[in-house]
Amino acid sequence: MAASSFQDIDHFHSGHLIVNNDRKIICCNAYICNLSDQPEKQMIDSNISQYMSKASNIFMDSYIYPLLINESIAQEIQITWVGKNGQRIAVVANIKLGLQGISYWSLYECASRDKLHSELLQANEKLEQQSQELFNLATTDPLTGLINRRELQAQVKKVIYQVSRNLSTFALLSIDVDFFKRVNDTYGHQTGDKVLIKLANIFTSSLRAHDLIARTGGEEFVLLLQDIDEKDAFLLAEKLRRNIEESAIDDIKITVSIGLVVTRKNALLDLDMLLKLSDNALYDAKKSGRNRTLIAQFKGDDEKEKHA
Ligand code: GH3
Ligand code: MG
Ligand code: MG
Repeated sequence: MAASSFQDIDHFHSGHLIVNNDRKIICCNAYICNLSDQPEKQMIDSNISQYMSKASNIFMDSYIYPLLINESIAQEIQITWVGKNGQRIAVVANIKLGLQGISYWSLYECASRDKLHSELLQANEKLEQQSQELFNLATTDPLTGLINRRELQAQVKKVIYQVSRNLSTFALLSIDVDFFKRVNDTYGHQTGDKVLIKLANIFTSSLRAHDLIARTGGEEFVLLLQDIDEKDAFLLAEKLRRNIEESAIDDIKITVSIGLVVTRKNALLDLDMLLKLSDNALYDAKKSGRNRTLIAQFKGDDEKEKHA
């Protein structure tokens, strides 16, 4: 230890330096000598800039010294220290400016702090990823990737709010595969699964981005089509039904039955009530021979309409 009357300064597990107005080191402890891989006598009177990277020197001129001149103190400054063999070491420094341009430096290697920081970041990222996975599990059907019944309920609430504001309508389709049990019994459960995935793909590729497609049960789907009247909704439902009938899935002929309900402007809307209507129409479609679309009559609460 040079130019210091305190021998104990060498025992600090952090670096301590005193630098004069010309940026020459006038005192340093053993930690600094180890960090720089230089004996004490080499360090004294050498310029502190030679132990810093180019970028840190620029930073020192442009930020650290102006800050010291203004505020006398610079805290938690990140600097790249350069050891004798050119090794670059990240350090954090607190610097205080004293009289006659003399500055007092204390610093420590921040590798372990950076390690902790990056570990925290990684843990955080993992948590975010896990919460996204949990969200997906809670909202998505894992077989088809479609939204599940619970998510449908949440999304329909938003649609009902929207249509009540812009006085538009939407159609709800309850779709059930005909004699699906036979498919499983004849070709196996795995083939049955493939059929369900293929159906999901047919729905997804036929509808618009803002329409909702949910798998609400084993071989049951609910579709919500926005901004559509009864005539077009029926045409679209029939097109889907024929499309499914005509596309043999793994050489297996599949048909579906569809119950359809279309809302009316100004009516009070409730998902359970609408589902009951479309399910009843679906039940009637099954009873009357399957492979068809039936429309439910939506009366709704048209009080507002009457008085409008
Ligand atoms: P219906 O025309 O009256 O609707 O007859 P169905 O055979 O389709 O109806 P049912 O309710 O008797 O049978 C539905 C079948 O769907 C029974 C069940 O094993 C099957 N199922 C439910 N979920 C899945 C699934 O995730 N994968 C497969 N492969 N089959 C499923
Ligand atoms: Mg069913
Ligand atoms: Mg069925």
